[in-house]
Amino acid sequence: MTSMMQLIEELWRLPRHLVSDGYDQALARLAGEVPMTIHEVPSGTKIWTWTVPEKWTCDEAYLETLDGRRLIDLADSPLHVVSYSLPFEGEVSREELLPHLHSHPHLPDAIPFVFKYYQRDWGLCAPRTLINGLDEERYRVKIASRFEPGALKIGEVFVQGELDDCFVLAAHLDHPAQVNDDLSGVVVGLDVMRALLAGPKPRYSVRFLIFPETQGSIAYLSQHEHLIPQMRGGLFLEMLGTAAPHALQLSHQAHSPADGALALVLREREPEAHVGGFRTVIDNDERQFNAPGVRVPMLSLCRMANPHLPESRFYPYPEYHSDLDTPAIVSQDRLEASRDLVLALLAAFDQTRYLVNHYKGEIFASGFGLWVDYRQDPEGHRRHFRIMDRIDGTRSAADIALELDCSLEQVIAVVDPLIEKGLVSLSDTPQPSDPHLGAA
Ligand SMILES: [Zn+2]
Repeated sequence: MTSMMQLIEELWRLPRHLVSDGYDQALARLAGEVPMTIHEVPSGTKIWTWTVPEKWTCDEAYLETLDGRRLIDLADSPLHVVSYSLPFEGEVSREELLPHLHSHPHLPDAIPFVFKYYQRDWGLCAPRTLINGLDEERYRVKIASRFEPGALKIGEVFVQGELDDCFVLAAHLDHPAQVNDDLSGVVVGLDVMRALLAGPKPRYSVRFLIFPETQGSIAYLSQHEHLIPQMRGGLFLEMLGTAAPHALQLSHQAHSPADGALALVLREREPEAHVGGFRTVIDNDERQFNAPGVRVPMLSLCRMANPHLPESRFYPYPEYHSDLDTPAIVSQDRLEASRDLVLALLAAFDQTRYLVNHYKGEIFASGFGLWVDYRQDPEGHRRHFRIMDRIDGTRSAADIALELDCSLEQVIAVVDPLIEKGLVSLSDTPQPSDPHLGAA
């Protein structure tokens, strides 16, 4: 079995553009590690309000002086050309050239990652120091890029659970010659699936989707609309290799069972981890899953300092979208820690059930032998009632623990005796017992 770090070493340099041979090669390699279905969506296919782009290839690209001195050469890094750049060949003045040269906003010696999928322009990328040093009047440019019909490819790894309803994991495989964004999420997801495939059958099925960012998730969702109602929760895996603490971004439906279970487990395992609302930590494909007409509660997990702290000014991490996003900034240990966390989050979601009350009014606690004496344990007495107050068919144990800022164990200690006495049962779907709900 190839380790996560070995897979990164093998794949990271590939020119993994949105629809490209480099992307396909990486996906085919991953399909050798686990049973995987590869979906192909041809260029030009309408996917909801979008269209699948053409395949893009760049064989050669350079900038040189008129006397033939190479200043920028694609052979040195796949990032030297703007992803989806138009082809171009000719002599240009410095004034004509400069608007087509791109540098990184805060790393003067780095090559930035720039993409122009819809702007239809040509461009090269280089360190700011190199661009500032261009002192000749005229230059020669060549960008030998090609656009042709191809197919956007999506890898799907599936673990059948007891239920067809599923939890979705996702990560994006595009981004040439970069690692943390988001090859790190891809290999963590793959390792999670290897563990699930080897372990006992989960209750919910699990689908892991590997695709190019944005267009990949829209392509998959638009072609599998019949599966959307079965998607009960999801987690986008992103930027999991750096030394920063984990950060969890809640879904658009912050009160979903997935949100409650995942936020609670993260708080218990890593109290220093940041938990933020939808669209407040990092924006990615979870947007498509949470969007109108889809509304899968998909959270996202990454490693990032709290985005509101001053040290986060190099948001989301200093080497982001540059040629410094290499295997040197990620580690096998951290990838394994993220994998173990994802497995724990999935296990928590698997156990999530709604707590349904089969009683009305406050329970006659002493009559059932459930009385907690407030003279001996005032805190336990209060907690016991606060938990029982919330068992109404609309909350899980995790929801109640989050609401009361107590541990899951404390809630379970109250709920288990109620289940034993037949006063409470567990349900996969909400069973609101409030007689005002649903009344005409
Ligand atoms: Zn990115």
